[in-house]
Amino acid sequence: MASIAKEWREIPGRYNLEGSKCPVCGKVYFPKRGICPECRRESLGKMEDYSVSREGEVYSFSIVHEAPAFTSKLKPYAVVMVRTTDGIMISGQLVDVNLEDVRIGMPVRAVLRRISDDGPSGVIHYGYKFVPN
Ligand SMILES: [Zn+2]
Repeated sequence: MASIAKEWREIPGRYNLEGSKCPVCGKVYFPKRGICPECRRESLGKMEDYSVSREGEVYSFSIVHEAPAFTSKLKPYAVVMVRTTDGIMISGQLVDVNLEDVRIGMPVRAVLRRISDDGPSGVIHYGYKFVPN
């Protein structure tokens, strides 16, 4: 949808799938890191920005039946571990899917979605969720 694409462009980078790439060993991390845990001091101050692919497939999943009060409208829901096409593991909520259809290997992509309304303050939180691709 056009409106979704527009939102992606307007939302600050922290809501994109921005990770870090270690220039020493080439490993990619998500979310961003200031240092590579393997190269440590060698990588300090050298980590490069890396945009993680928004497409991938379900690596593992669980159906969550308990939820914090603010997401009570959503339960039960699926939480998935996704392996992106560039090999990064990202966990998140899988939406727009029948829970009985969720399976390992299912192609998914990350989209920007409203996460919650902060009641009276009117603040709306956005973040990524996964949908079937
Ligand atoms: Zn490294």
